[in-house]
Amino acid sequence: MVAGLESPSAAANDGRLRGPVLLINPPSPSGFTANREGFGGLGTLTAGRRGFLYPDAALAEAAARLRSLRVPVRAGDLAMQPWRGPVRLFRRLPELDGGHPAILHVAVVSLDHDLAWAKQTLGEWSAPLVVQGTALAEFRSEILAALPRATIVSSGRGVPAADALLARFGATRLPLENELELPAFDLLPLGRARRVPLWSGFGCTLACGYCPYVVDTNRQYFPNAVELVTRRFAALVKAFRPKRVVLRDPNLGQDLERSRSLFESLSRLPARDRVPFEAESRPDGLTSTWLEAFSRAGGVELKLGIESFDPEFLVSSGRVPDAGAASDYRQRCLEVVTAASNMGVALRLFLLRGSGAAADGALSGVASELSPFGEVVIKDLLPANPRELWRRMHRGGSSA
Ligand code: SF4
Repeated sequence: MVAGLESPSAAANDGRLRGPVLLINPPSPSGFTANREGFGGLGTLTAGRRGFLYPDAALAEAAARLRSLRVPVRAGDLAMQPWRGPVRLFRRLPELDGGHPAILHVAVVSLDHDLAWAKQTLGEWSAPLVVQGTALAEFRSEILAALPRATIVSSGRGVPAADALLARFGATRLPLENELELPAFDLLPLGRARRVPLWSGFGCTLACGYCPYVVDTNRQYFPNAVELVTRRFAALVKAFRPKRVVLRDPNLGQDLERSRSLFESLSRLPARDRVPFEAESRPDGLTSTWLEAFSRAGGVELKLGIESFDPEFLVSSGRVPDAGAASDYRQRCLEVVTAASNMGVALRLFLLRGSGAAADGALSGVASELSPFGEVVIKDLLPANPRELWRRMHRGGSSA
């Protein structure tokens, strides 16, 4: 029930969306773990039912947005909590003709499964449904074939999804997003790892032709203000006591000055507001000074997208501008991983299967060269599901 119509936020909802709104991360496909969290990525599927999962930051954002407008919500992460999640969502749910409004968080890598599950579970409902996830604009016809009444929000963020649902109920005067509103991680499980995502920046200006992180941002970078990220960091630590903060930014090192200033700012937080954090970046532009500042601020793990040492792939994919840069690339990467591991920073080093020489059998050689420095993770250049997305990305340079 929406109360307090005299307040600006409640007036923005006009009292028509009464809720409870269901915020749903669907279960993983059988035999896999689906990680749908993340702004730019297409999600990851790992074999087995006990793969690593981040808390669902998009649904936590949507929950906070709706709650700030006094709309009741129920959130269930059925991937992280296959048994408890449905109880949180459906137990003693008030009867409502046509079902309840809902936001469904899907990912490209598990889209077929997610839609089949939603069709079976929510298909008979006529209540407004928002389907939200990165790069969904490219899968419009598949989504509408399964869920004809759905509103599609092509974004990894939860606020636009919540606003799209409010718009289905006629809300037209939505208040500005409250920048200090924290995602409602109190409503969604953090998992045993208790790693809480925090947005540092969205998108990337670089032009790697295979990259999904730029699809919804048209190869632009939208960094959040350093001061805001710092304040949110402290507020997240205070509110949820995570073991670690995951600094979300697809390529944190793309603006060395800005990220160094962020590290300095985090370093100045009082000890009670700090926990270790992890981040991800392209490696070759990083410097020792940057790595030192990262470590001093509490950075304990770096995920580095190395992808390939194959010069032909590096140039043809737009990873580096020319052959000269390609021949330096391996050396630069090795210098960075050496420096980082000497500083005690844990490394996860990502390679792409199918990237030139790697596809010709050199991949294991690259992996062996890198494995003394950290955990090597090999991903597929072309995941089975999003071929159409790649095709459109390459046709237009970007599909956004
Ligand atoms: S550097 Fe990373 S985030 Fe940026 S375009 Fe390349 S792969 Fe994408």
